[in-house]
Amino acid sequence: MQTSFSLMQLLDPQVASSEKILRACVHCGFCTATCPTYVLLGDELDSPRGRIYLIKEMLEQDRPATREVVKHIDRCLSCLACMTTCPSGVNYMHLVDHAREHIEKTYKRSLADRFTRGLLARVLVDPALFRLAVVAGLVARPLAPVLDLLGLHRMAAMLRLTPHRRPAPPVDRVGKVYPAEGPCRGRVALLSGCINPVLAPSTNEAAIRLLNRHGVEVVVAAGEGCCGSLAHHMGREDEALARARNNIDAWTREFDGAGLDAILVTVSGCGTTLKDYGFVLRNDLAYASKAARVSARARDITEYLATLDLRATGTAKSLTIAYHAACSLQHGQKVLREPKDLLSRSGFVVKDVPEGHLCCGSAGTYNILQPALAEQLRARKVANIESLAPDVIAAGNIGCITQIAAGTATPVVHTVELLDWATGGPVPEALIAVVNGDAPAT
Ligand code: SF4
Ligand code: SF4
Repeated sequence: MQTSFSLMQLLDPQVASSEKILRACVHCGFCTATCPTYVLLGDELDSPRGRIYLIKEMLEQDRPATREVVKHIDRCLSCLACMTTCPSGVNYMHLVDHAREHIEKTYKRSLADRFTRGLLARVLVDPALFRLAVVAGLVARPLAPVLDLLGLHRMAAMLRLTPHRRPAPPVDRVGKVYPAEGPCRGRVALLSGCINPVLAPSTNEAAIRLLNRHGVEVVVAAGEGCCGSLAHHMGREDEALARARNNIDAWTREFDGAGLDAILVTVSGCGTTLKDYGFVLRNDLAYASKAARVSARARDITEYLATLDLRATGTAKSLTIAYHAACSLQHGQKVLREPKDLLSRSGFVVKDVPEGHLCCGSAGTYNILQPALAEQLRARKVANIESLAPDVIAAGNIGCITQIAAGTATPVVHTVELLDWATGGPVPEALIAVVNGDAPAT
């Protein structure tokens, strides 16, 4: 694609990077077929190619974002299916990130939009506040249809996504070290994160147990916190970078102290963000090399587990699993085989979900900010999953787990909890009824 940025514009490293990305696009349109919003809406401007044109025009002319541009960029899930499909290697992720930052700086959103985004950016990243919000959501959940009637669809979506149970009491893992059982084969940091400790503390509990049992010491580094992903996807770049630097400092202390073989992540959306710290901080002299080291050592938990010889105990009982590949894992990190191979080797029967490349509609805060599209994507995902009649759905991302669980009676369990169970850990809570034969699988 030809571009016409001025030399002055190209002095800005972010513009120079986006220009390079734009020039790689040959307008072939292959990406449109796998883009969930194009599949649903059939509008070229809701396809990757259409969005690339919109971004090109906005950046080339260095003009404030228009309402039309914001509408189509906001509808993008950042699922990155287009990057998997693109034969020219167009880095749509970095381009749309740049566009979101430009929108945040140049476009004044409505008061309601600013309020919702501000609320999400504040509450979701603070486990104490988020816990309170979940408890309030539990009480207010029955009001979701009323909010819909009042046109407050985003608030209604938030209530519908609230889990049915109170969050477990908080367990502060930050700054703790969990020693290996037997001879120590490795030492890793585990990202505790912000959403997981409230909605699914069992995931990191299972990860720690599983790693310790296989001879790996785990540290949750003192000072670590939210990875910055939620702020980043809302274009709040200063906030996202501050969170990245904070985590890099925390892990650098560990690298320079007792040492780390890897930084493990059980939320694949956060994993994609960690693996990109090196890029987003490449021009920060104080952080560039430290950020690059963090990105180089960041791993999805299944990537690291695949390097260990997991010892299955035979408890998995050949349950049939529909494996949902989170977009951030399959498109963002290109981690495709590891989760499925680990589950199969542990005794489960693993099935691929039809149309597995299409997003479930979770996408960070997308299911709250774009509830109508997100619900259509969830319905399509759940129908595809249920066509397999699985006993359980496995996924590696809390966003997907929450989104899919809101649309099906089949239990949705994190991959690492299933692996922990299959190698000697407790039955995942969501599976107890299925394992005991007390409940129909679907
Ligand atoms: S990231 Fe996903 S929704 Fe956005 S343009 Fe690419 S395929 Fe479409
Ligand atoms: S598939 Fe790649 S090269 Fe083709 S239009 Fe899409 S982004 Fe451009």
